[in-house]
Amino acid sequence: MTHANTAYEVKEEFDFLKRTKLEFEKAIQFINAEIRPVEKGVRKFLEQPFRQLTVRFPVQMDNGSIEMFTGYRVQQSRLYEPTKGGIRYAPDVDLDLITALSFDMTMKCNVVGLPYGGAKGGVCCDPKKLSRAELDKLTRRYAYEILPMIGPDSDVPAPDVGTSEREMGIIYDTYKMFNPQTPYASAVVTGKPLNLGGSKGRREATAQGGAYVLEEAVKQKNIEGFSTLKDTAVVIQGYGNVGFHISQILHDDYGCRIVGICDSKGGIYSEDGLNPKEVMAYKNASPEQSVIGFDGLPHLTQEKLLTSPCEILVPAAKETQILSNIAKDLEAKVILELANGPTTNLADEILVEKKVYVLPDILANAGGVTVSYFEWLQNKAGESWELSLVKKKLQRKMAAAYGSIVETAKNHDLDMRSAAFVYAISKAINVVQERGIFP
Ligand code: NAD
Repeated sequence: MTHANTAYEVKEEFDFLKRTKLEFEKAIQFINAEIRPVEKGVRKFLEQPFRQLTVRFPVQMDNGSIEMFTGYRVQQSRLYEPTKGGIRYAPDVDLDLITALSFDMTMKCNVVGLPYGGAKGGVCCDPKKLSRAELDKLTRRYAYEILPMIGPDSDVPAPDVGTSEREMGIIYDTYKMFNPQTPYASAVVTGKPLNLGGSKGRREATAQGGAYVLEEAVKQKNIEGFSTLKDTAVVIQGYGNVGFHISQILHDDYGCRIVGICDSKGGIYSEDGLNPKEVMAYKNASPEQSVIGFDGLPHLTQEKLLTSPCEILVPAAKETQILSNIAKDLEAKVILELANGPTTNLADEILVEKKVYVLPDILANAGGVTVSYFEWLQNKAGESWELSLVKKKLQRKMAAAYGSIVETAKNHDLDMRSAAFVYAISKAINVVQERGIFP
């Protein structure tokens, strides 16, 4: 897609939902002009979420007071069912954010070839300010409120920012109490604890999938100047589930040097490389729950860390982090987008111009939903796969998805993000045509 064919490149869009719509529109315009005509009605059908639920519910806090919370569940596409997508607990959760994330889920499932529509959910809250008991009560009540939507064959949640295996266990239990006869009820959520039917390898799946995509890109010599990942310098933004696991995998399995790490409080940098496990142990023990102060290293701002010398930058925190000013200054040759929507539209244009190789979120972080799919299959079949089998299947899926996007990029002379959207939306258009419109 050329820079001249849409007006949006001139304005930096910080709103994730608006950016998602622009990305969609850009891909539709391209398909319409270069591949085949796309009816207006089909565009609308694909763009708009088919179901959005907002719930308000009370939770009794530890001190006896009652607090009201707002939660959401959005099912974006029902071209395939069940729908699938994580649950986020964060102070900035609102309907627009959840809708944008649900759209990305639809794209992601199409990119990797999973038989799911996209969905997402969340509760506006600050989990760091809630006690364990309060979080458990909030989760159980939220699960109850979204019961009309979720089910092993209708909509299957998973963890995202601020949630983990524990919340998935509670959602499963709540669902089971109200649906005691449902067969394979554990398939109502993925990312569960192993004892409840969770899959080996799910916790680190998003990071592992990203590593496989990166490995494939290097193997196929698609990144200029990269013949190996060994000793490459990596900066990681976000040190939660995804950020920690990607640093550990790149460090332990690929011999990368993790030179920079940051969390919401700021970052640290060491040219000689950091040991991910030591940094995590320090973070867990620190009163601030932060990497700041590790090994006496200076405290860097986010901006400083993202633009520090490195070859690979991994955003693994949240959306709208790589802004145009950062894109202009960053030194990385590769960006592995494990967070959802980390890059603004304008930053993206700058990265394309600078020939930075971007592995876009809807490809790079699809390992999480892929192993969720494996978990769902195991639950339905009453099986428990070995870790080696999960990893082998994940690698195959991620390599195939990467291959499809590279092929689309080459065939149509597109950057990787545009190619991923064009590929995913073209597939959705096929499904609409093949299924037809009911009635
Ligand atoms: P998490 O809650 O475990 O970790 C998030 C981390 O980001 C925390 O360390 C937090 O301190 C940090 N953070 C928050 N704001 C930041 C900022 N402005 N700068 C730097 N760090 C910041 O969440 P997670 O599950 O690791 O998810 C991270 C990202 O990956 C999200 O965008 C999520 O949507 C995406 N993702 C997660 C999964 C999954 O399976 N968990 C799957 C696909 C995509």
